[in-house]
Amino acid sequence: MNTQSPHRRRAAALLGIAGALATCGAAGARRPASAQVPFVPDSGSLAVHCGALIDGEADAPQRDVTVVIRAGRLGALTPGRAHPADLPLLELGDYTCLPGLIDMHTHITELPEDEADLKVFFTRTAAQAQAIGVRNAAATLAAGFTTVRDVGTYVAWTDRILRDSINRGEVAGPRMAIVGYYLTIPGGGGDLVVPGVAEKDIPARVRVGVTRGPEQFRLRAQGAIDGGAELVKVIASGAVLAYGGVPGAPEMNREEIAAAVEVAHAAHRKIAAHAHGAQSIKDAILAGVDTVEHASYIDDEAIALAKAHSVALSMDVYNGDYTETEGRRQHWPEEFLRKNLESTEAQRQGFTAAHAAGVPIVFGTDAGVYPHGLNARQFPIMVQRGMRPMEAIKSATSLAAHYLGWDDRVGRLVPGLYGDLIAVRGDPLRDIDRLQHVETVIKGGLAFKLPRRAPPRARPEAG
Ligand SMILES: [Zn+2]
Repeated sequence: MNTQSPHRRRAAALLGIAGALATCGAAGARRPASAQVPFVPDSGSLAVHCGALIDGEADAPQRDVTVVIRAGRLGALTPGRAHPADLPLLELGDYTCLPGLIDMHTHITELPEDEADLKVFFTRTAAQAQAIGVRNAAATLAAGFTTVRDVGTYVAWTDRILRDSINRGEVAGPRMAIVGYYLTIPGGGGDLVVPGVAEKDIPARVRVGVTRGPEQFRLRAQGAIDGGAELVKVIASGAVLAYGGVPGAPEMNREEIAAAVEVAHAAHRKIAAHAHGAQSIKDAILAGVDTVEHASYIDDEAIALAKAHSVALSMDVYNGDYTETEGRRQHWPEEFLRKNLESTEAQRQGFTAAHAAGVPIVFGTDAGVYPHGLNARQFPIMVQRGMRPMEAIKSATSLAAHYLGWDDRVGRLVPGLYGDLIAVRGDPLRDIDRLQHVETVIKGGLAFKLPRRAPPRARPEAG
């Protein structure tokens, strides 16, 4: 493994920012206190005056509005700067405020350079995975992503350790919905079969969800839910970044997927299906999944099915660029690089066609394939490939929350939801690249990132 990677240095830098914030509680009488680790989650109270505000739901932004957050929850949005006298005011008159962003497809306990040699997972301990996850969580939060749907980890339940430590306020990171482990067939896209390693030498903790047949998949899905997963993840087709898998070819069959769906939905959990090929996309939709991941080789029939069944696509249209450049530089296996090249442009064309047909598309990036914290790099590609900027923002806010089943918690700036708010300088509707420069991150009313310098033109109080 290349320990001198840019990702490692970047994660350390971002952690440095988070660390500095954690100790700058005296940022000024009119500024909110920054979150200290450990902190009491969802306990912050403040008012934020926004020059513009995109609430995640409406088609147009509001101008000159103040958001109140009390005890971690959003309260009223009022015109102007009429904020309650008992709350600190964060003045963001030159900024656009948005709901905290949601990435629907991350692998937050893993790193891009793991792809160079998947054997690292055979020896990585839970403590090592946690240390990696803590850095990635800080980078993700600092990038404005206050919620992630973490769709898999090779070492079972490392996602649960990270989620729980964030929820206890011991680690700064996004809200996490987790899967615990992949449901996958032997040798499938979620099974760590590595050439040159005998099966008996593969530790059991990386194969918890590896099985065959509807009855066995039913048990594994139930095991994930009983263990605390918010979501079930099935690997329906072959994978790009796995040995021997053919992305266009089915792995789990429709009956196996349907068995997992039945268990997930009986427990009021959502279920996501990794499916590159058209047949697997159709099998997953007809089996009843909530979202299809990747959807690289989607065809017209699968697009029509997704639309008819209101199944959302989570299409990771950025990371192919990273794999082709950095992955090649890091000597990822030639097979992975080939499959990535074959699928990247096809997926982007499928994205355009599915979006034009009216299929819901949620923002999912496969963070972990590329460095965590660069999640927003996907926005400009979604816009280049046919989405209006407001559609791209909704895909990462209200629409994502809907398909996460968390409409009542995150994804919109409306009273009652968690006080998760980010801000960027300027107008992301004119320049979607602004979302790669998030300067303010509030989660549960606590400031995890604030502009480094005061706004240049602080206006007098409006009473
Ligand atoms: Zn993935």
